[in-house]
Amino acid sequence: FMISGAPIFNHSKEWKGVVLVFHDITDLKRLEEMRKDFVANVSHELKTPITSIKGFAETLLGGAQEDPEVREQFLSIIYKESGRLQLLISDLLELSKLEKEDLQLNIQKVTIRSLIDDVLSLVRHSAEEKEIEINVDVDPDLKLEVDSSRFTQLLLNLVTNAIHYTPEGEHIYINMDEHENDIKLTVRDTGIGIPSEHLPRIFERFYRVDKARSRNSGGTGLGLAIVKHIVEAHNGKIEVESEVNKGTTFSVILPKEFTNPSS
Ligand code: ADP
Repeated sequence: FMISGAPIFNHSKEWKGVVLVFHDITDLKRLEEMRKDFVANVSHELKTPITSIKGFAETLLGGAQEDPEVREQFLSIIYKESGRLQLLISDLLELSKLEKEDLQLNIQKVTIRSLIDDVLSLVRHSAEEKEIEINVDVDPDLKLEVDSSRFTQLLLNLVTNAIHYTPEGEHIYINMDEHENDIKLTVRDTGIGIPSEHLPRIFERFYRVDKARSRNSGGTGLGLAIVKHIVEAHNGKIEVESEVNKGTTFSVILPKEFTNPSS
């Protein structure tokens, strides 16, 4: 609580008492804590690749570049780590745009199947490498009112996660159920699953079930936070169900027609 007070006097200027106002600042404090945590997390996430880039560059400059094999190996680490920095920064910028109150969406009526096909062509290589089969069962004529580049980003994040957290030879299913006013899009995998105690937190920024696994697979820890913001900007909601070693299903429920919340 924050307390502020003021004295009360009567007509003859005699002191009668005080008024105390108790402000409940629990929410404010919580927001401040979250902001501090976020800054600390961002700094930590940036520090790791920068330390590694600096260290390998220093070792190269200190003489290691004379050995062509070592040079090749260190340069490829530097290249990979700078890619990670780039991805992290572009995810942070996207998240900060999505968090702005006056977010402008570019809403168009689009065939959802074509957006799914765009995403599949982007992930085909990584799915093939792990021999993961992606099955799509979506009406090819179904149209939705969405911001197509953001919706593609949403799908890409869910599908890349499904590939990362699913062992070789397993499956991914993308389905769409149509109802009168809304649709339900599901991305299901037969992967490692998420223990139930982690489920309520996976949409938080930088929350990961297994930090090492996520980093090794190139994850920034921001993918699902971005997905949730995109879904909510479209007045939809997202649900997750998961069973360890059985798999995970993300369901996105979206209205077929977009209504601007501010109009
Ligand atoms: P990351 O970059 O770590 O993948 P995300 O925000 O996309 O970050 O996901 C947060 C965490 O949720 C991941 O680190 C992972 O532990 C878990 N997760 C997300 N999708 C799946 C999935 N399909 N199967 C299992 N775990 C998942």
